[in-house]
Amino acid sequence: MSLPAVLSRLDQMQEASLQRLFALLAIPSISTDPAFKSDVARAAAHLVADLQSLGFEASARATPGHPVVVGHRRRAGKPHVLFYGHYDVQPVDPLELWKHPPFEPSVQEIEPGRKAIVARGACDDKGQVMTFLEACRAIIAETGDLPISLSVMIEGEEENGSINLPAFLEAHAAEFRADICLVCDTGMWDRETPQITSSLRGLLYEEIIIRAADRDLHSGHFGGTAQNPIHILARIIAAMHDANGRITVPHFYDGVHETGDNRKASWNALGLTEADYLSTIGLKYAAGEKDRTLVEKIQARPTCDVNGIWSGYTGQGTKTVIAGEARAKISFRLVHDQDPKAIQKNFRDYVRTMIPPDCSVEFIGYKGSRAVQVSEDSADLRLAVQALKDEWGKEPVVLGHGGSIPIVGDFKRVLGLDALLIGYGLDDDRIHSPNEKYDLQSFFKGQRSWARIIEALAKR
Ligand SMILES: [Zn+2]
Repeated sequence: MSLPAVLSRLDQMQEASLQRLFALLAIPSISTDPAFKSDVARAAAHLVADLQSLGFEASARATPGHPVVVGHRRRAGKPHVLFYGHYDVQPVDPLELWKHPPFEPSVQEIEPGRKAIVARGACDDKGQVMTFLEACRAIIAETGDLPISLSVMIEGEEENGSINLPAFLEAHAAEFRADICLVCDTGMWDRETPQITSSLRGLLYEEIIIRAADRDLHSGHFGGTAQNPIHILARIIAAMHDANGRITVPHFYDGVHETGDNRKASWNALGLTEADYLSTIGLKYAAGEKDRTLVEKIQARPTCDVNGIWSGYTGQGTKTVIAGEARAKISFRLVHDQDPKAIQKNFRDYVRTMIPPDCSVEFIGYKGSRAVQVSEDSADLRLAVQALKDEWGKEPVVLGHGGSIPIVGDFKRVLGLDALLIGYGLDDDRIHSPNEKYDLQSFFKGQRSWARIIEALAKR
């Protein structure tokens, strides 16, 4: 394929590509709210029609929830790439904080010389999906075909926890076998520096309920004699970390690897200080393990956080009560080879040792996921690094992300596929919030970047 011709075609069709993105953004495909079910279906149908116009064999595939848009454009003997994105969006409330209606997309000058597409889904993830599809469109228009075999999977339930996608993947594993998977839900290091996300943390989420007396008690009658479940819960939570910030659950660090000196040096070279990182949230000093650097904590260390705690009397004034039960939601971010199942068992056993014999604990577990790691010396990663460097004129940052995208772990588990996580979102895109935006530069240079990456992967 002639890359220069494809790139100049992309530059010429900017306005048309913007209008195509606007058409998708105008559909309020809010997956979590049943009131928008038909709109979600409409967004799926819209994408199917678009993929068919590009020569994909495409359809909206039913699941117990919203459909998965699937398209194949196969070429025998060429590297097979699976592209993943999502077409559903988050709810828009509070609506009054939007400066422009969330489903009437527009281009706004957000600061002098900087323009962005403003709408719900502008970045997450419709804008990112269309960034990729526009690159495919230009290549097909210019050369008559793609230089790779391409399957796309664009789901409608990502903002709702991808609840039906793992089963869909398992049921159709043979259909989606590929050589490499591209995931477009991530961001850039900054406005001028592309990024490839090389790892994601896993997640374990537990809810615990401590039960003591069989009813709420008068603290004058039973204070000091009956067990107080809030005290028990507080002791458990306090016991989760030692004085150095290390998590105390037995065997918790099994599968956590120490970082090599080269990697640490490249993190230090980023020059990210605690003050830089925390000043945006009104803080100064990093919490957590005392003997680890900030970047190491985000990249390579697991965490334990209490996400919610409730019990007893929390209304106006006073009520001298001892509650019958106390609850907390606790999450763990996992790294490397930590096993969420083993940690769940060890955590539960550990908590049970702290429950007095006349009290009880109940656990509610939520679906966990393992961490995902892309090998730093994968050939695909190197191809993508070079392609991004060619477009942006700068070496991309290759760095892990502290969050979790569980489906990436499912691609590995079910299909044995490694993922390249590349996206053009920015920290100030306000995804999930009012006034979500996607920089025009992200959209247009992102298209050019994908064209380069597709060309590079064709030579795989
Ligand atoms: Zn999202």
